[in-house]
Amino acid sequence: MQEPRSISMWMDTLDGDLTLRPPLGGDIDVDVAIVGAGYTGLWTAYYLKKADPSLRIAILEKEFAGFGASGRNGGWCSALFAASHEKIAKASGREGVIAMQRAMFDTVDEVGRVIEAERIDAQFEKAGTVIFATSPGQLGRVRGEVEEDRSWGFGEDDIRWLEPEDAEQLLRVSGSLGASYTPHCAALHPARLVRGLASTVERLGVALYEGTTATAIEPRRVTTDHGMVRAPLIVRATEGYTAQLEGMRRQLVPLYSLMVATEPLPDAVWSKIGWSRRHTMADGRHLLIYAQRTGDNRIALGGRGAPYHFASRIDPEYERRPDVFADLKGVVHALWPATRDFAITHEWGGPLGVPRDWYSSVGFDRATGLAYAGGYVGDGVSTTNLAGRTLADLLLDRDSDLLRLPWVGHRSSKWEPEPLRWIGINLATRVYESADRAERIKGEPVDGRVDFLNRLIGLKNI
Ligand SMILES: Cc1cc2nc3c(=O)[nH]c(=O)nc-3n(C[C@H](O)[C@H](O)[C@H](O)COP(=O)(O)OP(=O)(O)OC[C@H]3O[C@@H](n4cnc5c(N)ncnc54)[C@H](O)[C@@H]3O)c2cc1C
Repeated sequence: MQEPRSISMWMDTLDGDLTLRPPLGGDIDVDVAIVGAGYTGLWTAYYLKKADPSLRIAILEKEFAGFGASGRNGGWCSALFAASHEKIAKASGREGVIAMQRAMFDTVDEVGRVIEAERIDAQFEKAGTVIFATSPGQLGRVRGEVEEDRSWGFGEDDIRWLEPEDAEQLLRVSGSLGASYTPHCAALHPARLVRGLASTVERLGVALYEGTTATAIEPRRVTTDHGMVRAPLIVRATEGYTAQLEGMRRQLVPLYSLMVATEPLPDAVWSKIGWSRRHTMADGRHLLIYAQRTGDNRIALGGRGAPYHFASRIDPEYERRPDVFADLKGVVHALWPATRDFAITHEWGGPLGVPRDWYSSVGFDRATGLAYAGGYVGDGVSTTNLAGRTLADLLLDRDSDLLRLPWVGHRSSKWEPEPLRWIGINLATRVYESADRAERIKGEPVDGRVDFLNRLIGLKNI
């Protein structure tokens, strides 16, 4: 068992006692059993209890609330949804794209509303996202995304292009050629949110068992290492760990995203960087990076680049990659040279859940009573809230507009058997990396090999 404070800077900076809650004490009967105490499981329990306080709900968590991606992420509560607009449009048309995107815009505010209503001190600040272009190649892609959103009917209020001098008013990065800006994102402290949600649902009467591993999920029962939970309704909320469940090996691939954080930076540094509000920040490179100014004045920055491990294996060792941490530290120093004299105090990471078609989904089969949500890739902080509200409506058989959103009932195909998935995913990572390196050296766009690869294996930039 990993010590709670060791898994991320966010868990390390929590106040108070992190002693584990007791495990399940034997067989029980409940109305709803939820496997996984990350945002998905907790939001689902929250909305179910709010709708029907008499429901008996048990959450089963193999480690502790927030052990997974929910206690480790970059804290972007964004309106980003994993599937591209084109992909959504193929099955659900233009209206489907717009409805999904509007639902995501609303979700950012809904997370903020509950945080306030339940007095969760999650350092939520909705200042939007700035995505910089720091090379000519990035310039084409970042501008292209603004135009692309425009073509779907999203206006200046939803996303706009900022010339370098305007972008600089928000925050300064080396080599900026301009940036896109959307107001639809908040920065938050991920662990405060997940731990605050856990306490909130307990206060509402939900039973949360930590240190309890589900070994089998079947219609009307969950078998655990501490007893059996019988329930007519069961929710699987296991995201990046899903491949460890019997029969689920090729459902979601665990891809690692890693992060670093500086020590709290003094005002002298912030006056050079700007960033007076906590806009979330990224740039247009192929291999994604993401950053936020934290509530305690650090820069926390993450990115991909860690390898995928054969047969979807997960191991705490995979979260510690000195080569990737060194790259991320290099990115912090390159974007903000004023941080060079300050320590990187934390390095951590964790697995994301990635479906084969990069399309998150939520679903429920009334015949078996089994429900699931996940496959958020790197966009789960807000999407899990939409999942929780949607699952509550599905399980309680309440009609709502949420049930008509394109991702409800979507089924992703399975990942290829090994060694194909290992070859494909790691090859993609290396191609994105080499394209970024070539763009840095040549100063010209290198999109050809990336486009070719994306078409060949149907992946989106990771
Ligand atoms: C480093 C990193 C950065 C990220 N940055 C962002 C970001 O900035 N913005 C964003 O939107 N998204 C981000 N994400 C993704 C986001 O964090 C996730 O999509 C989201 O937290 C998923 O929540 P979840 O509850 O579905 O899964 P998790 O939080 O992973 O929770 C799943 C839980 O299930 C438990 N579990 C698994 N198997 C079992 C079992 N058999 N029995 C009992 N319990 C089990 C696990 O222990 C875990 O606690 C990031 C992810 C990572 C790793």
